[in-house]
Amino acid sequence: RGPNVVVVGGGPGGATTAKYLKRFDPNMQVTLVEPKATYHTCFGSNWVLGGLAGMDSIEQTYGALKDQHDVNVVKDTVATIDPDARQVRLAGGDTLSYDKLVLSPGIDFRFNAMEGYSEAVSRDIPHAWKAGEQTRILRDQLRAMDDGGVFVLVAPGNPFRCPPGPYERASMVAHYFKQHKPRSKVIILDNKESFSKQGLFMAGWEQLYGDMIEWVPSSQGGQVEQVDPATRTVYSDGGLTRFRADVLNVVPPQQAGAIAQETGLANDTGWCPVDQLSFQSERNKDIFVIGDACIAGAMPKSGHSANTQGKAVAAAIVRSMNDQEMLPLSTVNTCYSLVGPDYGITVAAVYRFQDGGIAGVPGSGGVSPSEASHAFRRQEARYAQGWYDSITADTWG
Ligand code: FAD
Repeated sequence: RGPNVVVVGGGPGGATTAKYLKRFDPNMQVTLVEPKATYHTCFGSNWVLGGLAGMDSIEQTYGALKDQHDVNVVKDTVATIDPDARQVRLAGGDTLSYDKLVLSPGIDFRFNAMEGYSEAVSRDIPHAWKAGEQTRILRDQLRAMDDGGVFVLVAPGNPFRCPPGPYERASMVAHYFKQHKPRSKVIILDNKESFSKQGLFMAGWEQLYGDMIEWVPSSQGGQVEQVDPATRTVYSDGGLTRFRADVLNVVPPQQAGAIAQETGLANDTGWCPVDQLSFQSERNKDIFVIGDACIAGAMPKSGHSANTQGKAVAAAIVRSMNDQEMLPLSTVNTCYSLVGPDYGITVAAVYRFQDGGIAGVPGSGGVSPSEASHAFRRQEARYAQGWYDSITADTWG
């Protein structure tokens, strides 16, 4: 039997790691622990809100990992990790031993950061920042809203999962309103002064939605401090400014997933410091942390980043098991956003390990041009679907 690696979390980070470990070294014993039988990707979830896609279009399952890639998929939750004994204990009662452990647990929310918002409240006032049931709740509330209503989206400060995500969401909700509830309004209350692809988003909003979308930066009342769930009202400026919503979507500030916090792998930023060459935890030599949960230098917290980090950590583990040094791999990220069904924009970058951290390669990547034809924007929208199909096939297929 070959070395034994346990991977925690079947999102893009963990699923890619498990698949590529087996691909790089078929003798390796790879176990993936994930509680959900069906994973809903956050990518594409805004398209569901916009009415462009159904919930089934963002479902991924683990059959191919099991049947085609010989990964031992265990449907359970890791309750505790004992780093000294190199064991994980599952909520179902079993214990798994490991030689190396990879964590890709994603994010959890800092529910105490905003007065009045909690996990219990999120069932009524969704964050929809983990896809699945939360996406469904928000979609159904938008569908039930009367024409002329106000959708308020509270966006977090940096760093957070998917920097362009809130603005794609505002775009998709505006698209849905334009089709079905044209007197309605979208207000983004932002806990920052600028955002990803801002110029491109704002030009697209003006062109497609006129003044339907209003963006309020933190200095002008966007920094929400308190939520009153009963009246769907949010307060900023020490209570002086308030906004009432018909549909309220609160995306709270975030931190590394709970299991990483509880194992002592996060620092006081709430995220996990790693050696950015191998993704080995700075806190434990047998544990690796990737995806949204880790601090990955210049790389944003995205599904594409998690996927590319999954390949890098698989290579690092296989090489270390063979007493080989890790090579500085290039990693990559692309984030497509739909401003409308035929209006796509992108940001892309290539990264390389240098001077102790992951940095962008000068001259690589870039964003969509600010001036472009309809045909160009339409083509980028088609590429967004192509990106979705290829990243999910690479991860779960
Ligand atoms: P996750 O995807 O969160 O996966 C973590 C998994 O770990 C979960 O399945 C969870 O069940 C499991 N888990 C957690 N704790 C345990 C435990 N104790 N035991 C076992 N399992 C556990 N990214 C892009 O690249 N492109 C996009 O267009 C894009 N759009 C987005 C739009 C929105 C609205 C949002 C919210 C995000 C978007 N993202 C996008 C970001 C992307 O979804 C995340 O960055 C990505 O999911 C991170 O992957 P991960 O593996 O780190 O974590």
